[in-house]
Amino acid sequence: MEIEQAPTYITGSSYLDAFLAAGAALALIDNVVAASQQRQGSSSPGSSSSSSGGGGSERSSGTPGSSAPNSSTLSSSAPAAFAICRPPGHHAMPGGCMGFCLLGNAAIAARYAQRRHGLQQVLIFDFDVHHGNGTQTIFDADPSVLFISTHMNSGYPYSGGVKEVGVGAGRGATINLPLPGNAGHEAELLVFDTIVAPAARRFRPDIILVSAGYDAHYQDPLAGVLGEPAADDLDLDILDEEPMDRVQVMLEEAQRLHNL
Ligand SMILES: [Zn+2]
Repeated sequence: MEIEQAPTYITGSSYLDAFLAAGAALALIDNVVAASQQRQGSSSPGSSSSSSGGGGSERSSGTPGSSAPNSSTLSSSAPAAFAICRPPGHHAMPGGCMGFCLLGNAAIAARYAQRRHGLQQVLIFDFDVHHGNGTQTIFDADPSVLFISTHMNSGYPYSGGVKEVGVGAGRGATINLPLPGNAGHEAELLVFDTIVAPAARRFRPDIILVSAGYDAHYQDPLAGVLGEPAADDLDLDILDEEPMDRVQVMLEEAQRLHNL
């Protein structure tokens, strides 16, 4: 595969760093599942000793919005967690690195949640200012993973149009919501209320993974802006809203750490 001419460079520690980042995402899944089971006070199906073995391919229905029988789900009282993954992952393609991303941390975590813990319906919500093209590509034909991305239109990696909705059995399980630069906090809340939340409710996810890129922040030096200068709390409050109560967060791009 031809590697994108993006600002991705490799150092002597990059290989290990990429594994540590993906490992942090998997540790997040393990710990949250364990905590969920503890809070439920039972060893319900989906414990770390069980495995669905086949991820989305074993779902009884190929239609997004229906849960497979015997699938596990996180308790609504499951704790939220945040994995600080570096390098980020949502641009990483199946065949190579791209755009600062070496391994698709959120995608790997999603498949891990399915195969190791039986959490079959996985929603990945990506609010990085850039389109999560790698994650989308990985699950393009997979109806068990609903991928929703808000991002700035006309920016890197120049994909993520509204007509990209998935292919084959995965058609309808990809939702792209490109927004103009300076769309602002209100616009993000609007698309969340009118599109993201209803789609999430219909999909009935067993777990929600958030690809949290803080480069939408107006102070980020690299990307364009979605947030207005007054929106210092950009993106975070949407995670408090229904139905994001099984949410787990993984860091994507952020060029200004102070914004986290
Ligand atoms: Zn980004």
